[in-house]
Amino acid sequence: MAAKKLNMKEKYRLLTRDLDWEFSYADRKKAFPFEEFEGIKITDWSKWEDPFRLTMDSYWKYQAEKEKKLYAIFDAFSQNNAHLNVSDPRYINAIKIFLTGITPLEYQAYQGFAHTGRQFGGVGARVACQMQSLDELRHVQTQVHAMSHYNKFFDGFKEWTHMQDRVWYLSVAKSFFNDARSGGPFEFLVAIGFSFEYVLTNLVFVPFMSGAAYNGDMATVTFGFSAQSDEARHMTLGLEVIKFLLEQHEDNVPIVQKWIDKWFWRGSRLLSVVAMMMDYMLPNKVMSWKEGWEVYFEEAGGALFKDLARYGIRMPKYAEQIRKEKEHISHQTWWTFYTYGQAAGFHTWIPTDEELDWLSEKYPNTFDKYYRPRWEYAKKLEAEGKRFYNGTLPQLCTTCQIPLLFTEMDDPTLTAHRCSHYKGDQYHFCSDGCKDVFEEEPEKYVQSWLPVHQIYQGNCGGPGLPEILQDYYRFEMGADNMDMKGSPDEARWKQWKGVA
Ligand code: FE
Ligand code: ZN
Repeated sequence: MAAKKLNMKEKYRLLTRDLDWEFSYADRKKAFPFEEFEGIKITDWSKWEDPFRLTMDSYWKYQAEKEKKLYAIFDAFSQNNAHLNVSDPRYINAIKIFLTGITPLEYQAYQGFAHTGRQFGGVGARVACQMQSLDELRHVQTQVHAMSHYNKFFDGFKEWTHMQDRVWYLSVAKSFFNDARSGGPFEFLVAIGFSFEYVLTNLVFVPFMSGAAYNGDMATVTFGFSAQSDEARHMTLGLEVIKFLLEQHEDNVPIVQKWIDKWFWRGSRLLSVVAMMMDYMLPNKVMSWKEGWEVYFEEAGGALFKDLARYGIRMPKYAEQIRKEKEHISHQTWWTFYTYGQAAGFHTWIPTDEELDWLSEKYPNTFDKYYRPRWEYAKKLEAEGKRFYNGTLPQLCTTCQIPLLFTEMDDPTLTAHRCSHYKGDQYHFCSDGCKDVFEEEPEKYVQSWLPVHQIYQGNCGGPGLPEILQDYYRFEMGADNMDMKGSPDEARWKQWKGVA
């Protein structure tokens, strides 16, 4: 008699439930040593609702189909020299940020989910983390392949793996993931699975992928879509972990709330680079950062937190602060990169007159009052041949590692600066949010590898900034950094387009 064919649900049950075993001679708690140390209480793993419902064989089939289509498009892109179709060579700098800043995070997500999955007593959670881990490794690979084409024609791509461990602004993104990965397994899932994947991911993928589409970069659009179909599964895992933790035990509620407060704040700080990309780096603009924040966080996130209120979860602690910041952070961040254009691994520029008008229109409350005059002044200096570069290194925030470039939101001409003391040393922060995170776990953050502090301690070569940039960061001076205007990238572009 032929064996009965199993349906998907039964297959998945066999994979996630029946493959587990009882520990007859070993202590189960010793097998999962991290499951309890965060104070989280799990009473019944069988209540875990599997978010993916995908068996291994169907996972491989489904992913392989996607890969085939994706690589066909990469090949076509490359054969047709499709980099010549982008709107403007300035656009490529947004992609340099993606490869150097975001792709290494995908790799950290791969490592993080692989480690985290191992720590759970429940098989459903273990398998879900394993699959997400594989997805993240695929994201690294497809991004590297998509961007390798640009590496043949533009500067700023080739040293991305070397730069990840050294360059000051890349340390921001790196420290975000290091923080999550060195937390316990449940904090990792709340940080990455819920706060980042479920609530904030649209603010990374939508701007970059719509930005790519608006600016003629079909390779990036295609890997973006391919990654986003995985993202839908990741978001389900993020939401499941929150509901599961909150339903398991009421003692979990304050712990989860604390993590939500922390990771929303850290996430919003990390997104300041996306804010500047949307407002300043895309020649054809999609929407302003402020509009993106309103659509993808205030509306979508607002509804989500209304839903979570029945568990006793409230809005993230600094939501009100972040609401005010949407008017300012893109301008403050791009201004910092422009004035440190020699220390950035991509090109910077002053917005065109048309772009300044667009910013005035999109930010009627703040742009003309606080930011437009600076750009007008920078234009005047540049016209006089006195392009301004900041030659001193900034104080960094011990938690988010961003230079103290943000202001008080109620007084946008005053730099925000907070301090805390721990075991006789003083630590500096960009905000109340970052100070709170530090004070919750000072032993963790006193270990932060802060690039500027390391430079001043002589640990990054030197003694001068040019040697550090060249030898320690491996920046090709004048090619990878400084102004777009007059760069080899620009010269090549003009030659290809016959406008030299
Ligand atoms: Fe990913
Ligand atoms: Zn900070």
